[in-house]
Amino acid sequence: MQKILQYILPFELPRTFTDKTFNDLYDEWDKPSRQIQISVISCLTALLYVAFTFIDKSSWAPEYVQVLMLKSHLLIIAPMMLTISFLAYKKRFYNTVMVMLAISPVIAMLSHAYIASKLTNIPPFLAEGYLCVFWIFIVSGMTFRYALVSAILSSVILLLSAFYYMNLAGTYAIHAFWVFCSFSFGCLGALIFDRSRKAIFMGQQELHRLAITDPLTGVFNRNHLDNVLSQEVGRCLRYNQIFGLLIIDIDKFKSVNDTFGHATGDKVLQKTAQVLSQSIRENDTLIRWGGEEFIVIALEVDELNLLQLCEKLRGKIENEGYATAGKITVSIGTTLFRKNDTKEALISRADKALYEAKEKGRNITVYT
Ligand code: GH3
Ligand code: MG
Ligand code: MG
Repeated sequence: MQKILQYILPFELPRTFTDKTFNDLYDEWDKPSRQIQISVISCLTALLYVAFTFIDKSSWAPEYVQVLMLKSHLLIIAPMMLTISFLAYKKRFYNTVMVMLAISPVIAMLSHAYIASKLTNIPPFLAEGYLCVFWIFIVSGMTFRYALVSAILSSVILLLSAFYYMNLAGTYAIHAFWVFCSFSFGCLGALIFDRSRKAIFMGQQELHRLAITDPLTGVFNRNHLDNVLSQEVGRCLRYNQIFGLLIIDIDKFKSVNDTFGHATGDKVLQKTAQVLSQSIRENDTLIRWGGEEFIVIALEVDELNLLQLCEKLRGKIENEGYATAGKITVSIGTTLFRKNDTKEALISRADKALYEAKEKGRNITVYT
């Protein structure tokens, strides 16, 4: 079925992203807008059910059925929708709200079927069923899977109850047709809607990736520094884990450009980024801070590990052997995060250490 639809439809069917973290990210991104939609729509639905009770039904519903409608709408459906509307505000009730939202049209369709079976003039009342199927898919804010299950159950109730319990006087075929129309319009609309949401999310993720990536070297750019520092400072204060910051500056880089040209300079930057990223741990972060300066955030280190890391990186660059440019060296200024440090104070301390490394003749590490 999936394959056939895939062949017919001019867009890819929505499916969960294969990468779990990406899927979780999508869910987190998706939830807030759905919460607002569910809350507003459920409230409106409750109000419309209340408004329905004020409509004159004397020409098509006997007195006792009118009382039945009044009770089911005012005592069951409207309170249920208002409860959903209220709970949808709270993120922790998200899954409960989805289940309630999927069940509520089924309850509405059961009471609809029961009331319709008591009517002698049914047609004015049937539209609620078609609207309900459409509401589930397009209006309610349910995710596609919940909507599909809810709409199938509601449609089955609409078809079976009409077939067995209602006197439609030869109009069953047209009733079934309208149910099919609302289901197919709704389902296709929901598929397109779901697909668009995922496409927007993917586009946004790609823009975010571009915004924090340095195009020349492919490592993070300084836009990402603030995020990482905020995150690590928070973690450090909570779990008492210390991190270190390294500023790595290529020595006499200007003369590389002057001697071999900018293209070679660019290759040196790319190679340096590559060597550095391959030499740090997976949880550490490498950022191109500016022209020929890189920052490494090294997690869970003490002074000794930090100095070992600096020396390892410095040694790797020194021994790398660059095409055209030959030998390249770096100077490193490094420091550990201290409680009460601001991000600026931390960077400034490492920067001073770097300055000292340059003063002392380059190709060394200075720790403060
Ligand atoms: P020091 O040892 O004191 O660090 O000297 P330096 O020459 O490395 O430092 P300086 O700050 O004088 O020069 C940095 C140079 O980096 C100047 C700038 O033209 C060059 N640069 C900055 N960004 C890029 C880039 O993206 N590509 C290339 N090829 N060069 C760049
Ligand atoms: Mg510099
Ligand atoms: Mg330099």
